[in-house]
Amino acid sequence: MNTPVTPSSSPTPAHTLPRIAVLATGGTIAGAAPDATNTAGYQAGVIGVGQLLDAVPGLGAIARIHAEQVASIDSKDMPLALWTQLAQRVNALLASDDVDGVVITHGTDTLEETAYLLHLTVKGTKPVVMTAAMRPASALSADGPLNLLNAVTVAANAAAGQGVLVAFNNRIHCARDVTKVSTYAVDAFQSPEVGALGWVQDGRVEFQRRALRPHTVDSAFVIGAQWPQVEIVASYAGVSRAAVDALVVAGVRGIVVAGTGNGSLHATLQQALADAAAQGVAIVRASRTGSGHVMRNGAAQDGALGFVSAGTLNPYKARVLLMLALAAGHAGAAALQQVFDTY
Ligand code: ASP
Repeated sequence: MNTPVTPSSSPTPAHTLPRIAVLATGGTIAGAAPDATNTAGYQAGVIGVGQLLDAVPGLGAIARIHAEQVASIDSKDMPLALWTQLAQRVNALLASDDVDGVVITHGTDTLEETAYLLHLTVKGTKPVVMTAAMRPASALSADGPLNLLNAVTVAANAAAGQGVLVAFNNRIHCARDVTKVSTYAVDAFQSPEVGALGWVQDGRVEFQRRALRPHTVDSAFVIGAQWPQVEIVASYAGVSRAAVDALVVAGVRGIVVAGTGNGSLHATLQQALADAAAQGVAIVRASRTGSGHVMRNGAAQDGALGFVSAGTLNPYKARVLLMLALAAGHAGAAALQQVFDTY
């Protein structure tokens, strides 16, 4: 569904303003509740992109907007086919001479996964900026309109070649690093260890650093329609091997394990994962702590058992990278470790 929408409240845009495509996918930013004081009991993804844009004053003075309703979902239900569709649409828009940047509205729940997926697979240097909201559009003090205004402002002003950005609560994050850290607070996104790339406020955009790892045009990954099955398990007190064994029987291609601390594993789980690796399942160790890196354990564990270290990627982002790597034909712990060390 690609329906162009012109925000009715926008003034006629100056012909020199940047042309920004706004792709809406649903989420709380497009959510509605029965009354304005309700910020938890709402339905996500029910408000259309035209209404979202109408709620943002001054957009027409920042950019010429072309809007598309790509989907209307709660992002907790993100299907892999929509990832493919979204990435392909962003690629088509970036390739167009009529588009200077892309903004994507999304639910907060899986925003960090979609953002990293796009960071690795969209091919262009024009700004791609994602945003979302913690409060539904119907709420008192809804955060969506300002986040959307700021995302368009970033897309209209960011320098080229910074990969996929996330504009949220005045901060600008790198897609690789950003993660949701709160169930309810409007300041729900952080980039642990490294911090935000910059900030946006009152029309001003400032970057303080750049992402170093390859992305977009420098990434070897391309979007495809096939998604190798990769699942996530966790290590915790008393964990059994039941989940890992069931996943192997189900034929998964990879397992990311959210380990304790530095990706450490309960001995029972480690044995189950070692058995899975021996059967050709790719095993990636990440951490459940939410920040920090997972050191490669060398000969003692990773080397002997055929495991890969996720480095600074959290389990959900590690899963995205592992799916792309397996889809691209990377096989074996050494080749996969190289991928994780690079991206
Ligand atoms: N469940 C919602 C979603 O991810 C949450 C949000 O957008 O804040 O779509």
